Amino acid sequence: MIVQETKPIETIKEMLKDVKKIFLVGCGDCATVCEAGGSDDLKRLQEALKAEGIEVTGMVIPDTSCHIPDVKSQLKKHAAELEAAEGIGVMSCGAGVQTVGTLYEEKPVYPINNALFLGNTERFGQHVEYCSACGECRIDKLGAICPITRCYKGILNGPCGGVSDGMCEIGNDTPCAWVLAYERLEKQGRLDNLKDASPPKRWSAHLKPMRHLNPTLKKKMEEKEAKRKAKEAKKGK
Ligand code: SF4
Ligand code: SF4
Repeated sequence: MIVQETKPIETIKEMLKDVKKIFLVGCGDCATVCEAGGSDDLKRLQEALKAEGIEVTGMVIPDTSCHIPDVKSQLKKHAAELEAAEGIGVMSCGAGVQTVGTLYEEKPVYPINNALFLGNTERFGQHVEYCSACGECRIDKLGAICPITRCYKGILNGPCGGVSDGMCEIGNDTPCAWVLAYERLEKQGRLDNLKDASPPKRWSAHLKPMRHLNPTLKKKMEEKEAKRKAKEAKKGK
């Protein structure tokens, strides 16, 4: 999920200094889990804004704020409250903020949260970064430990000289990713994997902004395009 946190109230106040009426959008998925976009969080923000003289005209929490069609249908139900607002505050990651910005181009949209990273949940309320969505996953040979994300330097052939007692020189109780990989491979009897140098990473596998079609939709679109071309060719005869 996308780990995120609400901006400090002073930052929010500064961002909304010219706004008197605002509509709030949360997110029922990642932002709710992070206590930064669920019902209680929106109400807390509403109270804080009220103290600053900002009226909340209405609020909605779509199931997932990065799902554009879903958010569109949810916002439609709040047309009057949206119309009454000067701007829209979004408590979600930047994907949700941009969903709303795309749907409501005529209103300023304010990001209330900061998106931090793609996270794994260790226990409720505690998240850790394991994957950076690099577009070319190669952790099969490393015991499912990602050095791109879990090594401070992201090195592909480690460890570096900064490892000490299994820990990374970065501190913060961070284990060295390469020691973790070694220990995992040792358990699996696959230490030989570390003998071969890892080839250079194909960084072009993640060129922003990324786009993706799932295979079923891709096939449907290709078939539609083929039909369109066949129809055009027939017309041309
Ligand atoms: S190599 Fe690391 S960053 Fe890339 S997809 Fe795999 S886990 Fe994610
Ligand atoms: S000590 Fe390990 S995790 Fe830290 S930077 Fe070096 S190789 Fe990466």
